[in-house]
Amino acid sequence: MTDRAIIVGAGPNGLAAAVTLARAGVPVEVYERASFLGGGTRTAEITLPGFRHDICSAVHPMALVSQFFRRFGLTERLEFHHPEIPYAQGITRDRAAVAWRDVERTAAGLGRDGGAWLSLMRPFVERAERVTDLISGPLLRMPARPWELLGLGRAVLEQGSPLWNVRWRGEEAPALLGGALAHVIGPQPSLSAAAAGLVLVGAAHVGGWPIPVGGSQAIADAMADDARAHGVTFRTGVEVASLADLPPARAVLFDTTPRAMVRIAGDRLPAGHTRRLLRFRHGDAAAKVDYALAGPVPWAAEGLAGAGTIHLGGTREEMAASEAAVARGEYPERPYVLVSQPSTFDPSRAPAGQHVLWAYTHVPRGSTRDMTEAVTARIEEFAPGFRDLIRASTSHSAAALEHHNPNYVGGDIAAGSVDLQQLVARPVLAADPWRAPGGSGVYLCSASTPPGPGVHGVSGWQAALSALRHEYGITQEPDLGPRQE
Ligand SMILES: Cc1cc2nc3c(=O)[nH]c(=O)nc-3n(C[C@H](O)[C@H](O)[C@H](O)COP(=O)(O)OP(=O)(O)OC[C@H]3O[C@@H](n4cnc5c(N)ncnc54)[C@H](O)[C@@H]3O)c2cc1C
Repeated sequence: MTDRAIIVGAGPNGLAAAVTLARAGVPVEVYERASFLGGGTRTAEITLPGFRHDICSAVHPMALVSQFFRRFGLTERLEFHHPEIPYAQGITRDRAAVAWRDVERTAAGLGRDGGAWLSLMRPFVERAERVTDLISGPLLRMPARPWELLGLGRAVLEQGSPLWNVRWRGEEAPALLGGALAHVIGPQPSLSAAAAGLVLVGAAHVGGWPIPVGGSQAIADAMADDARAHGVTFRTGVEVASLADLPPARAVLFDTTPRAMVRIAGDRLPAGHTRRLLRFRHGDAAAKVDYALAGPVPWAAEGLAGAGTIHLGGTREEMAASEAAVARGEYPERPYVLVSQPSTFDPSRAPAGQHVLWAYTHVPRGSTRDMTEAVTARIEEFAPGFRDLIRASTSHSAAALEHHNPNYVGGDIAAGSVDLQQLVARPVLAADPWRAPGGSGVYLCSASTPPGPGVHGVSGWQAALSALRHEYGITQEPDLGPRQE
């Protein structure tokens, strides 16, 4: 039997799998439908020459908390900017709440809720290493010293329940927290949004929300370069429709949705597993707008100009209302808009004095609506004069995002709804959720597996480690560090 491993899809997880397998000495071929490598980590000129936009991911807290990227030495291979204000929340035109990298400084800015912020976030700061371990492995396992994680669990239960406002007295702190929880598209309060959001806020206070110099493409390039240096072959522009079209392989790893894997792998998968995979659900969606600007955004409220990421969502109640509207299949009147302003920190993204701006909002799945006007109006509300700075813009509706990348079914940028069930059973409830049972040699390695969406490479790394153990008898983790190049 051949030793070859095949990977379908070259997003950050497919690339992480390729690096891991190749470093263990396995011959690897990667097939990618797009003409470029990187999937959701892609930077390109899509408005005007000289303006380099991140098409999908822009801000990378998950890259810093990933055990894969730590082993890979990502921060040694490329440069990141670390905004002192990882993110801020626009509440009204003139009022914002600010998350500093320093948790104490953040609390100091939150007035009478400062103490409540500290007590909520302290476990995530003090146990940051435990959080990293938790999200870098299978979720269904007994963690070491579970009593140390009680503070984290309590915070998730509280912020994911109708009691989510009991600790707060003002509007700023819950809004600041709520903006991060709303990264998970869906009705609030929700335990899965609380878990993911609190991890993100904790990351803001520990490593920050870094922005790669040159854009998210730099992350993909670092992995692709390493993979090539270790013998990986890439075939771009090839959409895999069936395993019958590929050469024989001992292991096949899919950086795709579960449904696409079922379609492509066919009867190589056990029938029972196929049935379980087909129950995997996709959630609501995002619609994106990229701007080329003649100057910096004229934010009215203090704190927004220096923030890497800005949530334009108003109060926590307003965000809950807009998320509920999306869940009902409607377009919110006051949409939650996520903004990243990378060129504020990274001048390589735009011509001197000019800027790129990255923004998206939540919409019902499958939406074909161009959200440029809704997003522009929302930004203008917080930054009067914004419209006059727009030199060009490019819009991706939810449906266009799926066209760009079939993993974003209906524009679901999380590659599968992140509700409580699918946070744990992703894509199925199993101790090794990456591996299809029955000795099929088939693995799922995309964001439809733990720890879910985000650029962390953990899904690809864990799937590859499982394949190494089960298909190649290799139990020792390969060294992934940069020194081997
Ligand atoms: C608008 C948007 C904004 C985002 N912002 C952030 C952010 O700021 N920070 C963050 O951490 N994350 C962000 N994300 C999420 C992040 O981009 C994804 O979670 C991540 O890219 C998932 O990686 P992946 O490797 O699982 O899949 P993808 O990156 O989706 O890659 C899958 C790859 O597989 C290929 N493929 C699929 N089917 C086939 C086939 N049949 N044959 C061949 N190739 C195939 C696709 O073309 C694609 O290249 C964002 C996503 C979007 C869409």
